[in-house]
Amino acid sequence: MAEIKLRQVRHSYLRDHRKEEDWALKELNAVWQDGTAYALLGPSGCGKTTLLNIISGLITPTEGRVLFDDRDVTDTPTGERHIAQVFQFPVVYDTMTVYDNLAFPLRNRGMDSARVSARVGEISRMLDLDSMLSQKAYGLTADGKQKISLGRGLVREDVNIIMFDEPLTVIDPHLKWQLRSKLKELHQRVGVTMIYVTHDQTEALTFADQVVVIYEGTVVQVGTPVELFEKPQHTFVGHFIGSPGMNLLPCSAADGATVFSGIPVQTTNAHKFKTNGRRMELGIRPEFIRFDNSGFEVEIVKVDDLGRYQLVETRRAENTIKMILAEGTSIPAERPRIAFDPKHTWLYADGWAVS
Ligand code: ADP
Ligand code: MG
Repeated sequence: MAEIKLRQVRHSYLRDHRKEEDWALKELNAVWQDGTAYALLGPSGCGKTTLLNIISGLITPTEGRVLFDDRDVTDTPTGERHIAQVFQFPVVYDTMTVYDNLAFPLRNRGMDSARVSARVGEISRMLDLDSMLSQKAYGLTADGKQKISLGRGLVREDVNIIMFDEPLTVIDPHLKWQLRSKLKELHQRVGVTMIYVTHDQTEALTFADQVVVIYEGTVVQVGTPVELFEKPQHTFVGHFIGSPGMNLLPCSAADGATVFSGIPVQTTNAHKFKTNGRRMELGIRPEFIRFDNSGFEVEIVKVDDLGRYQLVETRRAENTIKMILAEGTSIPAERPRIAFDPKHTWLYADGWAVS
């Protein structure tokens, strides 16, 4: 196992990369601590697979260095990095049995057959593959094949890191839950560093100790699920995480006062702040707004009763503001006024939380 560092890594698939948008990954400095479960979360095309391939060595970054325990491995081939990588779509040897597929990475490294058999047994039990060990892989469903792929990723004990690239895409929803909790359980048992790539916030937040949020080739925040919820450092984190995500409202900021729609608003992070022509937004999650007679007036557009909570959509001028209220909270019938919790109200300049 190893601590993995990316130092000023950038990658472009283009030979000519003078423009900002020519870079699939913009400058990236990151440390992946030994034994931690990470999720890499971001929309399709933001650079997640590129980043995994740089760590595994399938791609050499255009710029920057990759270090394992301070040893520079930027030019070390994949096979010598001791990494297991599970791809989005199954990679199995169709003509081999399930057993041989799982045994392959071990035999390849010269492990004796008694140890191979013990290890394959352990993994196949965990993934419920016991009953199909002697079957050839080609007859299996996509689910079955992906379970073998997962097994092949998990079977080696000598890896620095296990990386999963959206591994549950082809898996049936009911099995998804089961496999995700198995991966989590396995992480707790063996403690190897894992990076789990997904575009699904629920998957990321349930799997990871640390979530790395990536947007347009830039890591915008690394944090625990709670930190991402309570202290979003970028508007993307605010609106991508949460359901619904953070309200983002246009505002102005001058001399320490933030003004939204004619109302001075207190924020947790902006004090003496100058906008310097930047695009200013106020961010507040729906969970941190309440009805309050000392607040400002809004119009109620609609109320959805979602069982344990109510989702209330309000409007002030052309701005929509969503609130989440506990079930049973009464909603004023006339002249509703709302207030933002100042501890959870953030000021952003060009997308980034100001400091
Ligand atoms: P993700 O895994 O988050 O969906 P990728 O890392 O696959 O994103 O892609 C990041 C960006 O790089 C995208 O704009 C994608 O089109 C581009 N890209 C990915 N692979 C290649 C490639 N082999 N050649 C050229 N462009 C690529
Ligand atoms: Mg991808």
